[in-house]
Amino acid sequence: MGAELSLRNRFERGLDAPICLTWELTYACNLACTHCLSSSGRRDPHELSTSEAKALIDEIAAMQIFYINIGGGEPMIRRDFFEIIEHAVGQKVGVKFSTNGTRIDETAAKRLAGIDYLDIQISIDGADAATSDRIRGLGSYDQARRAMDNLKSADFGQFKISVVMTRDSVEQLDEFEALAGSYGAELRLTRLRPSGRGVDVWDALHPTRQQNRDLYQWLRQRPHVLTGDSFFHLSALGEPLDGLNLCGAGRVVCLIDPVGEVYACPFVIHDEFKAGNVRERGFRRVWQESELFRSLREPGSAGACASCGSYDACRGGCMAAKFFTGLEMTDPDPECVFGHGEVALEKKRVALRPTPSPDHSCRVAVAISSK
Ligand code: SF4
Ligand code: SF4
Repeated sequence: MGAELSLRNRFERGLDAPICLTWELTYACNLACTHCLSSSGRRDPHELSTSEAKALIDEIAAMQIFYINIGGGEPMIRRDFFEIIEHAVGQKVGVKFSTNGTRIDETAAKRLAGIDYLDIQISIDGADAATSDRIRGLGSYDQARRAMDNLKSADFGQFKISVVMTRDSVEQLDEFEALAGSYGAELRLTRLRPSGRGVDVWDALHPTRQQNRDLYQWLRQRPHVLTGDSFFHLSALGEPLDGLNLCGAGRVVCLIDPVGEVYACPFVIHDEFKAGNVRERGFRRVWQESELFRSLREPGSAGACASCGSYDACRGGCMAAKFFTGLEMTDPDPECVFGHGEVALEKKRVALRPTPSPDHSCRVAVAISSK
């Protein structure tokens, strides 16, 4: 326990290089998920070129960052997708990429299966087509399942099935576990944050307090289910969940967006959390020298959570969830397991919430509903 704490203290002060670096290759996407954290849809014409992308990988390799998370948008939409990931693994930078699976046909699956140091996460938002398609669009579930079938036929090995926990999907935990088991896949659950287009659906779709309690118990019994540390606010309920149990934004986590802007975490794409651009300063300098990241590495105030007996486990929760629901950084997490976040939200009900910036959504109507 003592070693765990001192490790956490070190991480809180920030490291020379991020442990969890996410790079969104493009804002282009062929789906229009209602909760998309990066409001993706249209390609930004200024996204990094192939040569800029390769130079960034070289810098990442020189910083001894041994793997990167690639996302989007839909990263496989980029024509140079394979060239970029093959360059990364050639530089001994492992790649984990998130995809909606629509581009993983039999040929792509075989090519992916031939690449070392590659991990794939296929996203669904329900254990059946009706539930998942409500979030991700009609036909998206079947396409994701086809991608999983193709990876299995191509002997890719163990991939991940990634699910955002909504009020609907959280009711299907056992079904997700069975689905992952049927493919020999790992299950990864992440928290719905009010980021990107998620800000529009968060009120209707984030799990209820009771659902979060049930989720905590379910996860406690299944340490093999991956969460990317995204439910540490639930650790206030008792024994901590596996993970660092801290907000790593700007300390051990960051995001590089398609045009090279560096943000404190994938869920805070907003000018307020922008640290600099890799085109102007290079990634290393942004990570090590930005004023924003330096300030995030300073000890923070516990604020309204100071008197909470669970502060050590929960640390007041997620900065992004607070920011995009209009709360202060010193307020409790909006999903505080003791309901303090709901009280804080109620007090600020009339205040304007920050809007995500930038927004690359396609201008199409998308239905938002919970069962
Ligand atoms: S802001 Fe939230 S999602 Fe981002 S690193 Fe912190 S806790 Fe995680
Ligand atoms: S009061 Fe604050 S520290 Fe305590 S459980 Fe709620 S959000 Fe976490």
